[in-house]
Amino acid sequence: MPELPEVEIIRRGLEKKLINHTIQSVQRHRINLRQSIPITLETCLANTRIIKFNRRGKYILMELSNGLTVLFHLGMSGKIIVQPSGSGYEKQKHEHLTILTYEGECLQFIDPRRFGIIDLFPTNTTHNLLKMMGPEPLPDTGINVSSHQAILCDYLHEKFKLKKQSIKNTMLDQRVIAGLGNIYVCESLFLAGISPFQSACELKRQEILLLIQSIQSILLKAIESGGSSMRDYVHSNGEKGYFQMQWNVYGKEGELCNYCLQKGRKTVIKRAVQAGRSSFYCEICQK
Ligand SMILES: [Zn+2]
Repeated sequence: MPELPEVEIIRRGLEKKLINHTIQSVQRHRINLRQSIPITLETCLANTRIIKFNRRGKYILMELSNGLTVLFHLGMSGKIIVQPSGSGYEKQKHEHLTILTYEGECLQFIDPRRFGIIDLFPTNTTHNLLKMMGPEPLPDTGINVSSHQAILCDYLHEKFKLKKQSIKNTMLDQRVIAGLGNIYVCESLFLAGISPFQSACELKRQEILLLIQSIQSILLKAIESGGSSMRDYVHSNGEKGYFQMQWNVYGKEGELCNYCLQKGRKTVIKRAVQAGRSSFYCEICQK
């Protein structure tokens, strides 16, 4: 499932290719994904200009000049491709929405498993799916990093106090913090030296601050390394879904922990299932 960095890379790709384009036509190829695709999409979007692409958690928000915003969620297997609408354009398998612009680009929303969402809402309102969402883990451009970390830390400290469940499951809850999925939660907990089984309410402020710093460093690294694979999402029809990141624990069950190795210890990375999702961890590095 695409997580925050993947979605942010897609957002940047869309911005680069489609900003200020005017929509010529919209074709809805099916009536529903996880929920129904609005029937008004085709008429509401025609002849409007795309003025902005925002991201909130794992959602992409395409803001239009007519006061409406299109919400996209990629679900489990969705992707968005942008390519010239000239002679090379071909409808793809599992393509559920096509948007053509007068400037000659074609946006294709493709989702084989159909867990994605396409919706439309007034820009000056908050979409229902975004109402309960926790804060973004990364600061907006221009915001001071350490003051953002301090504010987020205060917020999470308060929020965690009420959570007796594990920190792993707490961080996956989009109402607590936005945009994180299994991979980045496993890796952030490893980097912060926190066990996935630790109760969220037991974490001290200093540990939460370290966790925030770990989350931010991994997300930023992933976004940076994703720049080169952006074409896989928005310029071509490539199948590759994830960046070539080097993980410390994710998917490494049975392998030796590199941090332990550097200290002369041979510790095997373990896997456990929490709330139906795999947690990967080193029981020496994470307490
Ligand atoms: Zn270790």
